[in-house]
Amino acid sequence: MKQTTLAKSIKTAGVGLHTGVKVNMTLKSAPENSGYIFVRTDLDNFEIPASVEYISHCSYATTLMRRGVVLSTCEHLLSALRGSGVDNCFVELDNIEIPIMDGSSETFFDLIAKAGVVEQHAPRHTLRILERIAVEIGNRKMSIEPAENYEIDCVIDFPHPFIERQRLNFVFENGSFGKEIASARTFGFTHEIDMLRKANLALGGSLDNAIVLTPGGMLNETPLRFDDEFVRHKILDIIGDFALLGMPLRGRITAERSGHSVHASLMSKLLKAEHAWEIVEQEG
Ligand SMILES: [Zn+2]
Repeated sequence: MKQTTLAKSIKTAGVGLHTGVKVNMTLKSAPENSGYIFVRTDLDNFEIPASVEYISHCSYATTLMRRGVVLSTCEHLLSALRGSGVDNCFVELDNIEIPIMDGSSETFFDLIAKAGVVEQHAPRHTLRILERIAVEIGNRKMSIEPAENYEIDCVIDFPHPFIERQRLNFVFENGSFGKEIASARTFGFTHEIDMLRKANLALGGSLDNAIVLTPGGMLNETPLRFDDEFVRHKILDIIGDFALLGMPLRGRITAERSGHSVHASLMSKLLKAEHAWEIVEQEG
């Protein structure tokens, strides 16, 4: 199997979920073996590769930083790129945060499908898991273990009538990301939003880009896209964060009440355990 990139450029624009700033974004084809590279066009085209080594903080979104230059909330776009089977891509932005669009990966996924994905010459590499690696932070658990495919078994548990305990086992297969995951939106709780706003976060958040839950229901007047949209969005986030490993995985992720910081801990523990993985060419 060969590496891929975009057939043509994609332009879009929107606001950042946390900063509320307006941002223009262009996705462009990139050479073989470049991976995903963010380019701050407002800062002399400063480049920040999408890589675990540049994770700076990850409390409510995954933020990258290289030499003091920040790129915020990269996970939904990275999820769409990985979910679309794109290996190499430049992501040009003229501000600090990826646009949130409708709170899911659907717009990015549809734009990529419309632009088209083309094969390059170099073989695609995958990170094949050889040994189980696990992290546990309080009641949050996450592990990765050998498997034939890229699979994610995810459990979330929130004391809310719309959520409670949701579990989904997702297998990366042809088309599965677009059908099962891409359109699942991010969500937040009204009590959390006051706190986030006080911390200057969620400034661009609205009912157009998030499911907002009240103690007994939700503020949005449009229905959920799936009964279990919440666990689907968590899987979307996991795919986006694990795209920072730089290549598709061959292994099974098991996540229980995970979040961006748990994802980051597992990835850095995995990369340090060099006996637990190998890089192989993906078979056809
Ligand atoms: Zn998310």
